[in-house]
Amino acid sequence: MRLTTPFTRSNASNVALMRSQFEAFSRQLPLLYFTLMVNSIAVAYTHVHSAPAVMTKVLPSALCAACMLRLYVWARRRALGAVLTDSQIAVRMRNTVVLVVLFGLVFTFWGLSLYPYGGAYERTHVAFYMSITVIACIFCLMHMRIAALLLTAIVLVPFVVFFSLTENVVLIAIAMNVMFVSIAMVKVLLTYYRDFADLVNAKKVLEDKQQQLLVLNNENQRLANIDSLTSLPNRRHFLSRLGKHFAHERLDETRFAVGIVDLDGFKQVNDLHGHRAGDSLLREVGRRLEAFTSEELQIARLGGDEFGLLFGRVRSNDSLLSISTAICDALRKPYMLSETTTRISATIGIALFPEAGRTAEQLFERADYALYHAKAHRRGQATIFSEQHESTIRHIGRIEQALRQADLEREMTLHFQPILNVATSEVVSYESLARWRSPTLGNIAPDVFIRIAEKSDLIHELTAVLLGKALAFMERSDPHIGVSFNLSARDLASPDAVERIRRIVLQSNVDTSRLTFEVTETAVIEDFAKGREALSQLSALGAKIALDDFGTGYSSLHCIHQLPLNSVKVDRTFVGNIEQDRLAQGIVRTIVELCRNLALSCVIEGVETERQAAVLAGLGCNFMQGYHFGKPVAMEATAGGVSSI
Ligand code: C2E
Ligand code: CA
Ligand code: CA
Repeated sequence: MRLTTPFTRSNASNVALMRSQFEAFSRQLPLLYFTLMVNSIAVAYTHVHSAPAVMTKVLPSALCAACMLRLYVWARRRALGAVLTDSQIAVRMRNTVVLVVLFGLVFTFWGLSLYPYGGAYERTHVAFYMSITVIACIFCLMHMRIAALLLTAIVLVPFVVFFSLTENVVLIAIAMNVMFVSIAMVKVLLTYYRDFADLVNAKKVLEDKQQQLLVLNNENQRLANIDSLTSLPNRRHFLSRLGKHFAHERLDETRFAVGIVDLDGFKQVNDLHGHRAGDSLLREVGRRLEAFTSEELQIARLGGDEFGLLFGRVRSNDSLLSISTAICDALRKPYMLSETTTRISATIGIALFPEAGRTAEQLFERADYALYHAKAHRRGQATIFSEQHESTIRHIGRIEQALRQADLEREMTLHFQPILNVATSEVVSYESLARWRSPTLGNIAPDVFIRIAEKSDLIHELTAVLLGKALAFMERSDPHIGVSFNLSARDLASPDAVERIRRIVLQSNVDTSRLTFEVTETAVIEDFAKGREALSQLSALGAKIALDDFGTGYSSLHCIHQLPLNSVKVDRTFVGNIEQDRLAQGIVRTIVELCRNLALSCVIEGVETERQAAVLAGLGCNFMQGYHFGKPVAMEATAGGVSSI
């Protein structure tokens, strides 16, 4: 038999076993001392007249007092309810074993020393007392195997030896009997203890498994909520935080805000320096943003080059703007990437609760609108969604509604603006420009309704109707004059729409070499491969392709020669100040030169005065368009056109 106590070993399952033992024993402890006292008082009482008072009164009283003291200490500790450390429990258990040995020795000695006094009944009582007490104590010490075994040995050995020597057959029989019962009891105790230890171990294993599962679960949860590139919380986490925030803050109407940060120029870094550079740029943006994280500002990556801000408590619009401006400033500083050093800026759109929206979706939408607005008018700065934005949205909503219900064939018309060869002063072609007169809303500017139509597939319908009208105009107009038709970026992005455009052109009787499709550079750049494919399809018709609004976007000159282009239209922003602006003159001269080298025609848009036309002609420009030569006019009024279609 191993006599080391389990609590001297220190692995985790033994610690668990030790704790369980201690707890189980602690519950039995009062019963143990109570039995001991009652039995001892009973035997002292039956010997009170035969044995000396020291043995029947003083000693039992002292022993009972010790038992009471032990019980008091137990009760007090329990009442205090302190949580014990593993080593404290180990010490307590060791003390318990020592106490059990001490009490065992003293009570055995006391019991046996009473034996010589009294008659046969009293002697039998001593034997009964010792045997019943030892059995009761073994039961109570069931969870403290070592203490139970020590006690059995301490009481039983002297007891059996002592009574075997009495030569009294009854007492010897009792001693033998008790010995066998005790041996059986020890056997039961050992089995019970093993089962108990197994149970505790199994429980521990189960708890460990549960703990591991919990850790795994937490890790999964963490990974599902983290953006792997920047290690910032991801969109999912952001939305769930916003949702929670909403649930709490809605009640007391605390102002909070959602911000969307969008990087300006990120795409160019990605295109020019590759995805690795783009990734390290985003990581650095993530680091810079993280520095702003606080109790009141949570930051997440929403995807791509978009980041989310959740301002937990907004004291004033000024404080909101000053943090946002600091964020814009931080993101504007140069980025040292391994391949290059670059600069970008960040634009932020913000929507405040409760003014801008009362649901998470509304706030997000409004922040997105403020961002969209800021991108167009306040690039690199923060814009808070305002009442003015609100009324614009409502206005746009009404236009959208009217556009959806419009009879496009009837309500849409085309105006035509001449493009001249300034050397000969001849009109070479007309640009067709859409006009919409809504029966409910009146005239709506084309850039407004085109943008609204571009939000959905409605644009394809619109393009088809307008193209039909432009081709009808061409069929009836001077066969030497061309027509430029504007396509939307969305048309180019959709192979179905391109196919539909091809079919409409092929079904007409127009000489396709008279037709030019105008596309903006952003339309092609968005998805270069797709854009190029669409343009090839269109030029395969025999139509020409013009790159519109050149100079306003980011397209690098080097991508021009990769496209099947016939002409470039220089945006009118260069023309406004061309007489004084040497830089603009330089740019225009370079573009004209470039076009000549690439065998492209070059059209200058937005020429409004004689002076501008003269300066531009001096720079080598041959083709011009603008109010100076003719404003867009209805098709009936167009020179060489037909009366009506
Ligand atoms: P855009 O393609 O750049 O068209 C030229 C715009 O400049 C036209 O405005 C025209 O009226 C204007 N413009 C021409 N000469 C001058 C000038 O000397 N000074 C000034 N200040 N402006 C001048 P509009 O007709 O309002 O069209 C605006 C935009 O709407 C167009 O810009 C084009 O992007 C879009 N758009 C117009 N019609 C269509 C169309 O049929 N389909 C598509 N997809 N877009 C169209
Ligand atoms: Ca155009
Ligand atoms: Ca243009």
